[in-house]
Amino acid sequence: MIEVVGLTKKYGSNLAVDNISFSIQKGEIVGFLGPNGAGKSTTMNIITGYLSATSGSVKINGYDVLDDPIEARKCIGYLPEQPPLYLDMTVNEYLRFVYNLKKVSHKGREVHISEVCRLVGIEHVRNRIVGNLSKGYKQRVGLAQALIGDPEVLILDEPTVGLDPNQIIEIRNMIRTLGKERTIILSTHILPEVNAVCERVLMINAGKIVANDTTENITETTAAGKQYLVRVEGPQSAVLAVLNNMEGITSAKVQKEGEPGAFDYLIQTDNESDIRKTLVLALAKQEFAVLSFQAVGTSLEDVFSELTKNDKKGDA
Ligand code: ADP
Ligand code: MG
Repeated sequence: MIEVVGLTKKYGSNLAVDNISFSIQKGEIVGFLGPNGAGKSTTMNIITGYLSATSGSVKINGYDVLDDPIEARKCIGYLPEQPPLYLDMTVNEYLRFVYNLKKVSHKGREVHISEVCRLVGIEHVRNRIVGNLSKGYKQRVGLAQALIGDPEVLILDEPTVGLDPNQIIEIRNMIRTLGKERTIILSTHILPEVNAVCERVLMINAGKIVANDTTENITETTAAGKQYLVRVEGPQSAVLAVLNNMEGITSAKVQKEGEPGAFDYLIQTDNESDIRKTLVLALAKQEFAVLSFQAVGTSLEDVFSELTKNDKKGDA
């Protein structure tokens, strides 16, 4: 459905997108995740044909965005970071304007606009001035303009930025519904958004793809072993010595003082060993009491900071 090959974009000497390649299959909902300045909007602007690449190619449904821009764009609905709303038009006027602009001939204008309005829940505000709507409703109107022409692919750039928690939930639900019949790429710098909406994640950092997999696979493969948070009473250096000498522990570090005289240690283990029993016994032998013990799951957050820690370029 979408084929990106060797895409590079330079702004002067600033390499914003650095030779990225990926493909997206029909029907997928893919999260394009990365910190601010990573290159998400630049990539999306190139895929949608709003910006030219320095090199590389993008094909949508087999149409090259440079060679067949009209055919390629017909397949895409785009919600940019700043939705292109005309604030002094009514919702109806604006959507008619978009319909004409996109040269859609789909189903007849009024029927199609009504359908789209129903899909994003804005039927009751169709005669309101866009500029007077709440941020959440403006975003729905933005989604509506992307849906005009019934494109197979939706490209949404940070669709929930600036919304309140309820509006975020509404928009995410809407995206999930829309994704049942469409291919969606959604950019975000918010990790839980990917978990909430996407089946697959493309992580981008400093213009490079650093991961491309299902959310589950990414957390599994990068997390070699389990993490535990253990609270132990006793002097730090002596406790650390016990932990670091134990088989199965690959690293142990102090997190913070948990209570007077006791510290929390974050322990990383290798994949094979279950260290729980030996750990408690080894510490008890030195009369260091284990006050609490918990397994810490590896979150997408951990994975992301792990994958991006060697590269601090970007605006974040
Ligand atoms: P993201 O959407 O992930 O936050 P962007 O694609 O907006 O990232 O930006 C990627 C990099 O390109 C950043 O370093 C940004 O400063 C730079 N950049 C973006 N747009 C322009 C532009 N029009 N001119 C010059 N540099 C830009
Ligand atoms: Mg952006």
